[in-house]
Amino acid sequence: MSTETRLLLDESVSYRLPRSVVPERYDLHLVPNIEEGTFSGNVGITCDIVADTDEIALNSLDLIIDAGKAVDDKGKEISAEVTLDADNERLKLTFGETLSAGRWRLQIDFNGELNDKLHGFYRSSYTDENGVKHTLAVTQCEPTDARRIFPCFDEPDFKAVFKISVLVDSQAVALSNSPIESQKIEGSQSEKTGKSAKSAKDPKDPKESKSAKSAKAARTGEKKLVIFKETMKMSTYLVAIVVGHLEATEPVIVDGCPIRVWTPAGKTKLAKFSEKVASSALSFFNRYYGIKYPGEKLDLVAVPDFMFGAMENLGCVIFRENALLLDEKTAAQQELERVADVVAHELAHMWFGDLATMRWWNGLWLNEAFATFMQMLATDDWQPNWKRWDTFGASRGAAFSTDGLLSTRPIEFTVRKPEDAEGMFDVLTYEKGASVLRMLEQYLGAEPYRLGIAHYLNNHKYGNTETTDLWDAIEEKSNQPVRQMMDSWIFQGGYPILHASREEGGQSWLITQRRFFYLPEEKRSHVKQESVCRYQVPIMYTAAFGKDRVAGRVLLSGNSTEIKLPSAADWILLNAGGHGFYRCAYSDDDLASLTKDVFNDLSAIERFGLLSDLWASALNGSIELKSYLRQSYKFKAETDKNVWTVLIGAINYLNQIVGKGQRASLKEYAKELVMPALERTGIADTGESSAKTGDKDAVKEQLRGMLFTVAGTIAESSEVVKEAEALYAQYKKSRTSVSPALAAAAVSVLSYHGDETLYKDFVQQFKKATTPQEEERFMYALAGFRDKALLAKTLEKTLNGEIRTQNAPYVVRSVMLNPWGREMAWAYMKENWDKMVKVYPVVMVPRMCEGVTGLISEDLLLDVQDHFEKNEVRQGHRTISQHMEKLAVAVYFKTREQHTLERSWLKY
Ligand SMILES: [Zn+2]
Repeated sequence: MSTETRLLLDESVSYRLPRSVVPERYDLHLVPNIEEGTFSGNVGITCDIVADTDEIALNSLDLIIDAGKAVDDKGKEISAEVTLDADNERLKLTFGETLSAGRWRLQIDFNGELNDKLHGFYRSSYTDENGVKHTLAVTQCEPTDARRIFPCFDEPDFKAVFKISVLVDSQAVALSNSPIESQKIEGSQSEKTGKSAKSAKDPKDPKESKSAKSAKAARTGEKKLVIFKETMKMSTYLVAIVVGHLEATEPVIVDGCPIRVWTPAGKTKLAKFSEKVASSALSFFNRYYGIKYPGEKLDLVAVPDFMFGAMENLGCVIFRENALLLDEKTAAQQELERVADVVAHELAHMWFGDLATMRWWNGLWLNEAFATFMQMLATDDWQPNWKRWDTFGASRGAAFSTDGLLSTRPIEFTVRKPEDAEGMFDVLTYEKGASVLRMLEQYLGAEPYRLGIAHYLNNHKYGNTETTDLWDAIEEKSNQPVRQMMDSWIFQGGYPILHASREEGGQSWLITQRRFFYLPEEKRSHVKQESVCRYQVPIMYTAAFGKDRVAGRVLLSGNSTEIKLPSAADWILLNAGGHGFYRCAYSDDDLASLTKDVFNDLSAIERFGLLSDLWASALNGSIELKSYLRQSYKFKAETDKNVWTVLIGAINYLNQIVGKGQRASLKEYAKELVMPALERTGIADTGESSAKTGDKDAVKEQLRGMLFTVAGTIAESSEVVKEAEALYAQYKKSRTSVSPALAAAAVSVLSYHGDETLYKDFVQQFKKATTPQEEERFMYALAGFRDKALLAKTLEKTLNGEIRTQNAPYVVRSVMLNPWGREMAWAYMKENWDKMVKVYPVVMVPRMCEGVTGLISEDLLLDVQDHFEKNEVRQGHRTISQHMEKLAVAVYFKTREQHTLERSWLKY
């Protein structure tokens, strides 16, 4: 498996820059003209030329190159002829004479456009509380967009020191990876240097009021030159610059490092929570890694338009607003978790990714998987009450659902072209990657694993690595065959389902593995898969003998293994602790014993696993839908939120499947399942806000909100709808008077039943929202109505600028997943396809297309296939195939289960 990767990598040579010129340092100067939407700049790249040459290639894209030359140590200049190769995103400098081996400085002048596609150097804007519009210039380089900002050797192993400076409006804030070294007003004598240098927009400057200063600056067009300190040696994809009108919190010092949160004007009050997360996470990572944070300061910057959740630029992490800012008094549990996760994730990268970096993009998964794993660990350390590892089951479930497809991919795969790397930012990289790391950690034990990580970082700091370097480091510290085990998970796609069969009356158990697929066997007979896939499965099990339990572990490396027990067991559970990235199946009798006293015998995460495996087996036809439904009733008394995500996930899936005449059965089933649970938690709001950080009740409230939503929508409980109306009325009077989880649920319930008046009201709420969470809540609610005319209005907003392009593709997706809007949204997407591809950020188009998984009919399936045959999605063909396969799975499921869906489900 690894050999195959190596062979393929050789083919990639043409996409890689030659190693004959190695950059050491960039002196980068940029002058953004925000009003005009342009920028100009120059870069001096000090590099080591390994052998005499008269030609140098580097990366450049969408830049106009004005001049290029090379200068040697003694100041000798050789000018270059510049050729651009747009297809390969390259710039070639051809010199009139040979540059002899040694140290040279390449000097290039260039200019470009501040784009609106949220990559490279781009514009982002917002309107403040006083109605004043502000435009920022922001960078986003990963994976390969630094080349859109300045010509560079844009590959992760060309690490170099960056000395960055910018010339900006004197009133603008300018941020970059390092602290400011000096800044001065252009043409003036006054210069501030070193530590005393502050942003010129210091709100505490007593001499002049803010508005007087801006007025003066606007009059004079005054500029300031901001020079940042040198960075540590780092990759080009981590370069960050933000320029514009922003405000900051007071710095908080953690282990000597100042942390500040930067926000659009008027929003620093929403930064308290992330400041706490960052402080706790930074200190946690300093301890866990045993290496001090490698930057000199840490700025967390919220910008109004951002393609991803956030980006781990060393010392200058950039976020979309909802991933950094929130109001603790009104945020729901999942919103708190989201901010905690993203902040911890990005900080984990400061070491893993920024300090030690993958050699090439095939290693991106490890960066992301590891940061995802660490975000859980850090959050769990900070808020053990949240039971973050249990909640992680839902992330693992998302990975399972893509990785059970024929069209899945191995976690690590060959990356040749830049767009291959863009296709890597998916659930397999993040969620599956983190799941297999957690499986490894649990199997080895937390401490040997941690020692391995620290060992790896120490060996490779400021350098670049291959995935195997990590396995070797952990192997050294744990004395376990880590590389061999992990290769089977990293270099082949999919995962196994284990079957446990009782032998010798239960004293011995035969465990076999085969690969799990959602497509039923007859639909994939053309592909030979099973025979070639074998996983090294670290099995953790529990066996029951009356009241006694025996726990054990065994590594399954072949097709089967045997577990020998001291005597005959009543039952055996194969994924004890629930951390394994595999599914399990048991005979009917063994399943019956295992679920007899399920709430006492199994932990919440184990029940979660058992139930998700049953649901997956129903989807692929290994068991009948009615068997799943029958099992699901056993969980009516369930109190764990995560187990409920499986039960509710199945209800939502069936909501997509059912035909007109079958909706009543679904409604009856949903009611039967969720109403008793909702009544236990209480339908009416207690009126107390429970969003206090770390408050256990916030998790309970989240479950209540989930149950409330299903009860008020699919189950159509009139009592719940009435309560939703009352809650919303109360919420409009005072945001903090309603439990945040219920406020969110009420908004969903009301949109489901809402008319035009409510729609208009929600549009207003969306537009005047004071927190990113509230804005998002009402924005998505606009996709939850059932009236087609209203949904058409929502779709319009995705292209007319009312909804930002960072969100619009997700709103289109939501309407496509709404059974009442899906066909219309599909037609709308097809009709506006070219425009969407043009204006939406590149990586978001395949994500938008996930909406097609809701188009569950044979005719639509053909139409979807036809559309994507004619319109290839450049960065996402694999993701698109996965969406189409998910759709096919749903269509087969629906056809197969027609007879069951037509009867009353309560009879099963
Ligand atoms: Zn990341």
